[in-house]
Amino acid sequence: MVEYWNWAKTFRCRPLLYVEPTSIDSLRISLKEINKTKSKIRIIGCAHSPSALSMSNEVLISMKNFNRILEIDKENLVIHCESGVLLSTLNEILPQYNLSLPVQGSVSTLTIAGAISTATHGSGIQYGTLSSYVRSITLMKLDGELKEFRLEDDEDLFRCLTCCLGTFGIIISVRLQVSRLFYLELNQHPLEFRKFLNTLPVYYSSSDHFRYMWYPHTNFGIAYHLNRVQPRIINNKNSFLSKFISWFRYSLIGYHLLEVLFLFSLYFPRFIRCINNIYFKLDGRSCHKIDRCDKLFNFDCLFYQYANEWAIPLDQAVSCLLQLEKLMEQNNYVHFPIEIRFSKDEDLSYLSPAYKRKTCWINTVAYRPFGKNHLEHQTYFKAFESICYKHNGRPHWAKEHPLTNEDFSKLYPQWNLFHQKRKEFDPNDLFLNDCLRNMFS
Ligand SMILES: Cc1cc2nc3c(=O)[nH]c(=O)nc-3n(C[C@H](O)[C@H](O)[C@H](O)COP(=O)(O)OP(=O)(O)OC[C@H]3O[C@@H](n4cnc5c(N)ncnc54)[C@H](O)[C@@H]3O)c2cc1C
Repeated sequence: MVEYWNWAKTFRCRPLLYVEPTSIDSLRISLKEINKTKSKIRIIGCAHSPSALSMSNEVLISMKNFNRILEIDKENLVIHCESGVLLSTLNEILPQYNLSLPVQGSVSTLTIAGAISTATHGSGIQYGTLSSYVRSITLMKLDGELKEFRLEDDEDLFRCLTCCLGTFGIIISVRLQVSRLFYLELNQHPLEFRKFLNTLPVYYSSSDHFRYMWYPHTNFGIAYHLNRVQPRIINNKNSFLSKFISWFRYSLIGYHLLEVLFLFSLYFPRFIRCINNIYFKLDGRSCHKIDRCDKLFNFDCLFYQYANEWAIPLDQAVSCLLQLEKLMEQNNYVHFPIEIRFSKDEDLSYLSPAYKRKTCWINTVAYRPFGKNHLEHQTYFKAFESICYKHNGRPHWAKEHPLTNEDFSKLYPQWNLFHQKRKEFDPNDLFLNDCLRNMFS
């Protein structure tokens, strides 16, 4: 029996049937067989979702073989690619056509279908989540019918499909709006947390893709200003000495020693304050860099982790962050960094957490050094969730949260319409696993 884990190794499933179709026909044949038994189905991308969203103990379908880029329309800035194409592949191929993805998050080992199904986001108050760049979706329905869906054909349905958590059918391919190739100029500097809060709008609007990494218990964080610039030739040749210094700093101290220290802190939680302070002193330097966009959008998320992220309406972000600061003062021991990002209000996906609201995303993690399971983070995560919820926060779909159908129906104006449409595609709830049933009922 195949055993499948999510990336963070926090959830696992043992599907009775695991399928990796290689063609439309083989997928259709598998679906026909699966339909006879009325088994529950989940579709899996790279399993990077930190929750149990893509887990199934009945049927698990991986679209990893659907990995071709079908068309690149340079003039209209639209690409057509199969659902299993990795963002990292697009990051290598698109620059050859003078194109790049319009936005992206911290990592690119995600499939395009997985990324849009949970409204994966980066940062930039003028930019939406990846779902907001979808121009069409080709879906295989449960009965094997294949159809391309566009906004022009059925607006409501399309707005459901662009972020649908794998509950309508199997995404075969996606047309996506892309950008002309751009590089990013990074200016990073330490910034006092209160100064950041007091002038929040100045910061999030001062550069194309601003993000703030807060080091809890230090009163400080690092501000990253990323501005789009023309592509250019970058000389990345480093001397042996600079390679050694980089290995010493980022691999030995910044990774391996840190993992040992975090392990230690599981037994002595008070030590976390000290770790955050030491690492802020090491990391909190100013830095200037120019590179291809993906190389500065993406960064090393370090070790396996529990993750909790909420989309807060922008006008409530300061109040929410102030309450979080108070929470830290009450002796909650929180790993660095708390990542604070921004995105514009969007309306292409009814279930995008940024639907019709300018958004401040707040992401907190609890590391699992050496893959160790622990419960140390739970009290803090609960308090964090409660603060975000009180500020009308919507949780990130791929991450853990305690909300139910009733909560979501208040948070999403089109929640009921989404379910009505979903039921038309999946009347017997075959695409719902336990994780989704908890949210949907
Ligand atoms: C280290 C790390 C960093 C991250 N950084 C960010 C970030 O910066 N910003 C952010 O927003 N998120 C971030 N995430 C979350 C991540 O973007 C989402 O979990 C994303 O959905 C994962 O893509 P995936 O290909 O692994 O999909 P999976 O996790 O495998 O699946 C996600 C959803 O997509 C559905 N799905 C996948 N393929 C198909 C298909 N072909 N047809 C229909 N449904 C399908 C699945 O059923 C599931 O509902 C991060 C996660 C990790 C582990």
